[in-house]
Amino acid sequence: MEPILRRLAEERNPGGIRFGHSVTDFHDHGDYVEVTTKAPDGTTSTYCTRYLVGADGGRLVGPQLGIEMEGRTGITDMVSVHMGADLSQYWDERFFACHFINGECGTIFESGAIVPMGPTWGKRSEEWVFHFGFALDDEARFQEDKLVPRIRDLLKIPDLEIQIHRVSHWIIERVLASKYRVGNVFLAGDAAHRRPPTTGLGLNTAIEDALNLSWKLAMVLNHDVDAKILDTYELERRPVGKRNCDWGLFTFENSAVINAAIGLVAGKKQDNKARFEAMYEDSLTGQSIQAQVKKMIESQCIEFGAHGIELGFTYDNGLNISDGTESPEVDPLGQDYCATTRPGHRLPHAWLESKTDHQIISTHDLVGPKGSFLLLTDHIGLEWVTAAKRLSQKYKIPIKTAQMGQHFWDMEDQWEKVSGIPKGGAILVRPDNFVAWRSKKPSRSRGQELEESFAALLGLPLPVEMNGITH
Ligand SMILES: Cc1cc2nc3c(=O)[nH]c(=O)nc-3n(C[C@H](O)[C@H](O)[C@H](O)COP(=O)(O)OP(=O)(O)OC[C@H]3O[C@@H](n4cnc5c(N)ncnc54)[C@H](O)[C@@H]3O)c2cc1C
Repeated sequence: MEPILRRLAEERNPGGIRFGHSVTDFHDHGDYVEVTTKAPDGTTSTYCTRYLVGADGGRLVGPQLGIEMEGRTGITDMVSVHMGADLSQYWDERFFACHFINGECGTIFESGAIVPMGPTWGKRSEEWVFHFGFALDDEARFQEDKLVPRIRDLLKIPDLEIQIHRVSHWIIERVLASKYRVGNVFLAGDAAHRRPPTTGLGLNTAIEDALNLSWKLAMVLNHDVDAKILDTYELERRPVGKRNCDWGLFTFENSAVINAAIGLVAGKKQDNKARFEAMYEDSLTGQSIQAQVKKMIESQCIEFGAHGIELGFTYDNGLNISDGTESPEVDPLGQDYCATTRPGHRLPHAWLESKTDHQIISTHDLVGPKGSFLLLTDHIGLEWVTAAKRLSQKYKIPIKTAQMGQHFWDMEDQWEKVSGIPKGGAILVRPDNFVAWRSKKPSRSRGQELEESFAALLGLPLPVEMNGITH
């Protein structure tokens, strides 16, 4: 693990992380899970834990639970070659990664992509990773002596000096766990879903899983919140996992339209060479092929501009109180992210300026890192704030409060534009920055609507003064 990540992890959980240890076995006993670990020196230890989260990339926990990974596997064996080379005279500083089209074959199996790895970034990068796709039945994938000639051939630099540091294999697949939970054991991240890397959804989806599950576990373990809220983890996250698996595969397969635009057909080497050369002809045909290729590259915004996919996922039937409004329309090309405070959606971002210390912060940072809820209203919504404070005191659950115009300036009316909440309205935001409840109008009963909703949300007993006795 990178030293900086190790330090951060230690800061967040001092002494609680066993670096270099591996889990070798576990048993769910119903009210606790027994976990066996092995230290780097070979010694084994046993721990008892209330819940276990398998975030092991799918190596042990899911298979031991017998959870089926549904979908397509073995699509491609990607061989990643970590290497040293001087490409400074060839690299264009505008590139981040470079995907090649092999003029003879075009297909992913005969082509590749290269990414600089630093330590000096850009064209003077000393290290690079070259990714190649191989069919699973291609024996050449394990023949390391074939890699250097292949790299030189693809780059068309026959005398390029290359030092291979490491070769690794990873299988492209699109698989989703049939369940995200069995008893007290949960799956998260690549253990629950694996998809092609196109659109970059793997780590994003993994972090979202962790964020979704961790605050719910904290509520159950540290507060008297009904453990039923843990059922909403799979309810909320599995549909997002499926959608992101499907999108990763869709964009992976769709990149073949670039080959099609040139006219490259798998297995037709000679014809492909002629078509590829035609693209560079100084002729109308050459210009037409180039224009068509440009159009197809632009159509890859489904991968490179998928804001709707990255930010627009929702937890419609999950842990929130519906306000009866319709969800905004979904862009089928995944481009548009529609910011909304509708319950079940991600809290929209807006820049705010603190009225006390003039610090500029995002609405996203209002919940803070310690797992608090957030009641967000304006200077008129004092009754909501008072109700939130009562709730926090009664249930010993942290609820931060923020009033626009009272504690913060809404910079350039950004919040007003995205929130869609009239004066005196309020939203309750979960610790993972998703909206749990919303009122588009001021309270009619001293914040009681919020108190009822909060208790219903977390399966808490209603505040005593509300059991038949009005405020
Ligand atoms: C080439 C490539 C490019 C990618 N690009 C992107 C991108 O741009 N954006 C993006 O979002 N994602 C990207 N991804 C995907 C991303 O890397 C994964 O989705 C992400 O790492 C999954 O995180 P994870 O923690 O669930 O699993 P992993 O990263 O696999 O971590 C699991 C950890 O568990 C440990 N472990 C396994 N078994 C045990 C055990 N028994 N005991 C203890 N520890 C164990 C492993 O050692 C590992 O450290 C890319 C992947 C690849 C291969």
